[in-house]
Amino acid sequence: MSLADRVRLDATSAALGRLAGRALDFLLPPRCLGCGERVDRQGGLCAACWAPLRFLRPPWCERCGWPLPGDAPGPQLCPACQGRPPAWERGRAALAYDEASRGLVLRFKHAERPEAAATFARWMAAAGRDLLAGADLLVPVPLHRWRLLRRGYNQAGLLAREIARLEGVPWSPSILRRRRATASQQGLGAAARRANVTATAFAVPERRREAIAGRRIVLVDDVLTTGATLGACARVLREAGCARVDVLVLARVVKPTVVPI
Ligand SMILES: [Zn+2]
Ligand SMILES: [Zn+2]
Repeated sequence: MSLADRVRLDATSAALGRLAGRALDFLLPPRCLGCGERVDRQGGLCAACWAPLRFLRPPWCERCGWPLPGDAPGPQLCPACQGRPPAWERGRAALAYDEASRGLVLRFKHAERPEAAATFARWMAAAGRDLLAGADLLVPVPLHRWRLLRRGYNQAGLLAREIARLEGVPWSPSILRRRRATASQQGLGAAARRANVTATAFAVPERRREAIAGRRIVLVDDVLTTGATLGACARVLREAGCARVDVLVLARVVKPTVVPI
């Protein structure tokens, strides 16, 4: 299937999804994505779950989206990126990954609230406005197919699909493949994560290389922790010939001391 076919198919399924959403409102009253309380629309949050969320805004690190103090003009880099720049060009995150957002993100990750993708995509599109303006293609970080079968969907794919629908940028789930199942990242330290996600974990199939040659790609994922997974994906994409790789995530880990209060 060509990329254009995929996009058309996706537009059709999105339209059906919207219809289904309206039908759902009659059958199931909308519930808060955080706590399950009644709210006034599907995909909404109650005031108690909404208020403590930390939406990230500039100034932030141009490379990784880390919130920075001050308001110096022009792109700035955090100390980590000055010392060891990531494999991608620019990075943005919509939310701080903290006590307030963790439950929201995990429920989405573990397939309890897949309908949250539309809400999260709106937040991500706002945070990644400048990245998306110049993007040719959105590429979600893939799950290994065994894990995909178990879970039923790839949360990064759902986010990429919804952002694509909102912003009119094509997306493709077939650009990156996981070559082997990596152990779950949960509970691993930074060094163990890097060892777990080696460059060999991802590949661009030979027949998909033409689709990304010279293209500006935005990699999409749910959470940025150490950046090991996104870095491995970015390296593989660059080696396969794309022009640039930016990164857009729903939430990123931040040190509480760095986040402006
Ligand atoms: Zn709530
Ligand atoms: Zn940085």
